This record gives sequence, structure tokens and C-alpha cells, in this order.
Amino acid sequence: MSRAWVIEFWRGTALAVVALLGGLAFNNLGVAFLLAIAGYLAWHLHQLHRLERWLHDGKRFAPPDADGIWAEIFHHYYRLQKRNRARKQRLAALVREFRDSTAAIPDGAIVLGVRWEILWFNNAAERLLALGPQDAGQRIANLVRAPAFIEYLVRGDYRAPVVIVAPKDEALMLALQLVPYGASQHLLLVRDVTRLHRLEQMRREFVANASHELRSPLTVVSGYLDTLLDDPALLDGDLGCALAQMRAQTSRMQQIVDDLLELSRLENEGAAAPLLPIDMRALLGQVRADTMPLRKAGQTLEFAIESDATVLGAEKEIRSVVTNLVGNALAYSPEQGAVVVSYTTDTAGARIAVSDNGPGIPAEHIAHLTERFYRVDRGRARKDGGTGLGLSIVKHALQRHGGRLDIESKVGLGSTFTAVFPSERVTGRS
Ligand code: ADP
Repeated sequence: MSRAWVIEFWRGTALAVVALLGGLAFNNLGVAFLLAIAGYLAWHLHQLHRLERWLHDGKRFAPPDADGIWAEIFHHYYRLQKRNRARKQRLAALVREFRDSTAAIPDGAIVLGVRWEILWFNNAAERLLALGPQDAGQRIANLVRAPAFIEYLVRGDYRAPVVIVAPKDEALMLALQLVPYGASQHLLLVRDVTRLHRLEQMRREFVANASHELRSPLTVVSGYLDTLLDDPALLDGDLGCALAQMRAQTSRMQQIVDDLLELSRLENEGAAAPLLPIDMRALLGQVRADTMPLRKAGQTLEFAIESDATVLGAEKEIRSVVTNLVGNALAYSPEQGAVVVSYTTDTAGARIAVSDNGPGIPAEHIAHLTERFYRVDRGRARKDGGTGLGLSIVKHALQRHGGRLDIESKVGLGSTFTAVFPSERVTGRS
């Protein structure tokens, strides 16, 4: 038993003895005990009252003097108070430090609640998105109205950021990325990518300008070479051979320049491709006519058109997609190879698949095929005259149609390149 309880025990015992002696002296034990109990209760009530007063307004100060069990109660309570106060101060300091450090981050950070409402934002977010104190509690979609961002919110795939023009400053390009955390909260990170965007634009413009400038001199050189090659006197011997080589390399350069210009055009066309109905039978018939002459000896080229559905898009771009894929299939498969082009549609959209039974592509190269100038076998591709830009053009053209390029390949068995169009781009499905 603690000392306080021993004191309390002896206090009670002493009171009982006094009551007993008083009762015996006045010959009324009942009244004496009643008085003793009443006194004891009154004393406890008085202590309770002091505790209540102290808790009410004085608990910041040292506890009132007391002895016995009440001293113990005051003391315990006081210690608890002190410990809580210290913990609260530590927590407040931690929160302050966290807020100060996030406020100092150059990137914007916004904490969003379950209904996409703004719970908190740092200084950079305030500056980049022109937010103010009145925006706390507002839904983010009401403040950042760029369609690309709204679509990003709805789509639910937050692995990559979305790039938009800043809501209140057209010169500012922002990359916004949602990071889910907790039960259903999100952190919205906002990065200023204006410089990167400008550099990217400069790169695109440079490539477009350089290609454009190269076009005219190349046309002149190739024209003169044509004239020289028309002269039978020059065709004999080494000179004829050199001229033929120069002519071949010039047309290869012209092809590269044309492809670079085409790629720049696709990249610079920011908006999605138009929604013009395309007669796919006619388009594939045209591709067939254009690519038949490219077959090597014994190669077969078959078209299986299994749907009459119409694709909505830019005809020239889709024709270039299929021509590129068929051209590659014929170029990379051996003589006697078979190339099959199929056109199918279902509820998911339309698919143009180009299959060959050529050498196939090792898996590690597949993800890189749509990069500019990427070739699996550099030497061979150069010899065969490819520009290395065909699949980049295909990828960009399909992106402009909301579609994608799927590539499946098995080394030794062949490859299938599939241009996939989403259902919004397909009508009259059958
Ligand atoms: P290229 O002008 O060199 O054909 P592309 O961008 O069209 O450039 O293709 C990139 C590379 O992908 C090619 O160099 C080739 O290595 C590979 N490739 C493309 N299509 C096929 C195919 N059907 N079979 C095997 N390899 C292919």
C-alpha cells in the first residue's frame, strides 16, 4: 500500500476512535459516528472542490497543497498535464517543421480530400496555379479547368504526369501528377516544365527547319544526277557506278528528310486527328496497290478485310501507317515469305494487323522500335534503305487518333504489328 493510503487509513482510524470516545462520553454512539462521517465527507467534498477549481482555472499553476490521498491525486494529475503539454509542443514543432519544409519546396504540392477538394497547398502551388486562401475547400476541377487535366482525373491512371498550360498564365507550362495515399486522399504535385517544353519545341522547330532547308539543295543535286545518268556516255565504267551510287544515296537522303518533315508535322499538330469517315476497304485497296511492287521474289501479300466499319480520322495518316507496316513486313521477311494484313472490328474498336513470317525481333528491342532512328540491325537496315523513322511516324499518327501500336514478335517465327483504334473512332461496326 502506498504511503498516502496508510495516512488515509490512520486518519479514518483516528476519526473512528475520537467518535467512539465522544460517543461513550456523551452516551450517544450513533450521533457521534454520524457526526464523524459527516465531517469526513465534508472534508473530502472540500478537497474535491479544490480539485475542480484547480482543473477549471488553475491547472497551469502548481497544484494546491494537500496531504494524504488528495496530495497524491493532485500530484499525478499535475505530472500528466506536464507530460501532455510537452508532447503537444513536440508535435506542434514537428508539424511546423513539416509545413515550413514543404512550403520551401520549389514544386507545388496540394493535399486533396476524397471529393477532390483542396485541403492544403504550399507556396509554390499557390504561385504556379494562382491559388488564394479562398480556394481552400474548393474542388480542384473548378480551379484547374484544362480539359487534359479533367480527363486525367477521370481516367484514373496517375503513373505519368499530364502537361497543361497554367490556368492564369499562358506562358507557363505545368506538369501535374496525382499521387494517391492513405484511404482515398491524393497529393497533387505541380512542376514548372516551361523550360523543358520550350527546349522540346526548339528541338522540333530545329529539325523541321533543317529538314526543310535540306530539301531544295537535295532536289537540285538529284535533278543533276538524273540528267547525268541519262547520258549513256557517262554510264560506262567507274563513273557510271559512282553516279548510280550517288543517285541512290541522294534519294535515301530525300526519304529521310521527307520522313523527318512528316514526323515534325505530326508532332506539331497538337490537336487530335479530325473525325473524317474513312472507307477502309478503299484505303486498304490503295495500300495493296502501292505495296505489291515492293514484294521480293516469291513473297505473298494477302489482305483479309473482315469488317465494313468506318474509321474516323485523317485518311492520309492512316494510309501512311499501314503502308509503313506492310513495307517493313515485306522488307524484313525473306523471299518466299508471307505477309497478311487483316482488318477487324469489335466493341473495343478497330484493328489493322500486319503479320509476317520473317526473322522476328528479340524481346529487348521491342519497346525501343518506335524511337527515332532505332534499328535492330543497323548495318542491315541501312543497306536495305530504311530511314529508321517509319515506326515513329506510325506511333505518332496513331496517338493522334487516340490509338496505339501493339507489337508481338517471336524470333524465328515472325512478327505482328497491330494498329489499334479506340471505339470512339469507329462507326458502322459489323
Ligand atoms: P526502318 O526504316 O529501319 O524500317 P522503322 O522505324 O520502320 O525503320 O523500323 C525500325 C526497326 O524495327 C527496323 O530497323 C527493324 O530492325 C525493325 N522492324 C520493323 N518491322 C519489322 C518486321 N516486320 N520484322 C522484323 N523487324 C522489323
